[in-house]
Amino acid sequence: MKIMQNIAQVREKICAAAAQAGVESEKIHLIAVSKTVGAQEIEEAYSAGVRSFGENRVQEFLNKSKALPKDIRWNLIGRLQTNKVKYIINNGVELLHSLDRFSLAEELQKECIKKDAFIDVLMQVNIAEEQSKSGLYLREVDPFLEQIAVFDRIRLKGIMTIAPYTTDRSYLRSVFAQAKVLYDTKKNEFPNFEYLSMGMSNDYEDAILEGANMVRVGTAIFGDRIYNK
Ligand SMILES: *Cc1c(COP(=O)(O)O)cnc(C)c1O
Repeated sequence: MKIMQNIAQVREKICAAAAQAGVESEKIHLIAVSKTVGAQEIEEAYSAGVRSFGENRVQEFLNKSKALPKDIRWNLIGRLQTNKVKYIINNGVELLHSLDRFSLAEELQKECIKKDAFIDVLMQVNIAEEQSKSGLYLREVDPFLEQIAVFDRIRLKGIMTIAPYTTDRSYLRSVFAQAKVLYDTKKNEFPNFEYLSMGMSNDYEDAILEGANMVRVGTAIFGDRIYNK
């Protein structure tokens, strides 16, 4: 029951933030980040109406997608090793949030051709240039986009970013605002642009206020993660 209540609360906060931002709350996509979470908990979220889930490990995604309802939209949100690409193409991934380097784009293109498939991706940007995180620095974005322009199997659907972990809300907001500027600029060039994925349990309201239309919320739905597997 706790998960249902958490989801109701997250949805309420999304609605409030959307209202404050002047956008319709239906335009904000909620991804329930279910990494480390068991099938039973995912089913509880599913029965509360959640259909989009986020995983960061390929093997875990494969196990869960096999066992859980087929209408779940699986989002891959973590850094993806190039040698895992073969497991995700044509295998039920709705959206890959973490295109962060040329070698990954190259491998995605290659595997898509092999399987006569396409892949929807977000480009991950590292606005605050944190070394602990992946993602392109802002100044790397244009050269990167030029480099991958030939990869016709990769459908670039928008931008993903992870904000620094901080309680400094004005700094957080400025990071999100920079991602929004980038998103708006590129939206003019890329007809498939649709998603600005930013905001996690600690900061999704601020992200929405700055223009996020996709938030990735784990802890606030499923509780603290236990990494002792
Ligand atoms: C784990 C994770 C989330 C969810 O984080 P919470 O703080 O638990 O909401 C969102 N995005 C990415 C990329 C993650 O790895």
